[in-house]
Amino acid sequence: MASLIATLARSLFGPPPEVLCEQVTWTAGVAELRRRTHGRRESGAFLLGGKDRRRRIEEFVFYDDIDPHALDTGIVEIDGRRLGALWTHCRNTGREVVADVHVHPAGFGQSPSDKANPIMAEIGHIAIILPHFAGRATMPGGIGVYEYLGARRWRDRSRESPSPLHVGWWPWR
Ligand SMILES: [Zn+2]
Repeated sequence: MASLIATLARSLFGPPPEVLCEQVTWTAGVAELRRRTHGRRESGAFLLGGKDRRRRIEEFVFYDDIDPHALDTGIVEIDGRRLGALWTHCRNTGREVVADVHVHPAGFGQSPSDKANPIMAEIGHIAIILPHFAGRATMPGGIGVYEYLGARRWRDRSRESPSPLHVGWWPWR
């Protein structure tokens, strides 16, 4: 109830979220990311959905489903030659990549490699980082939320309140 009231108050008076995800989609996706880490390696996913006024996450497409070796070294590394499968899936579903998420063993700060190699080098793209193998904090406020500014520069929006990422019910598109 408290969160419903907070959402309503935000929808009326606060800055609208830039990226939305239904709670059930988020919870299931995060649980699957956690499972795929086996508690010892990073995992990650492209977050697909529709873009109208806001980006709406509707589906997690896991990196190791696109590139079976993406998690082999312990940090996420996707072979660009495998991305055709992702683009085909996007075409078939009418969805596009609206954000990405990956899991870190400890904190949610961006590594030098995260900064240098954006998954989508598109200005305004949002990259999310879940700390502690997605076993503790998994909601905005306790996770990393970074906006790509271009030229390998990022804006750390992790501690913004309200967060640009809203997980849960939202009254309108
Ligand atoms: Zn990382």
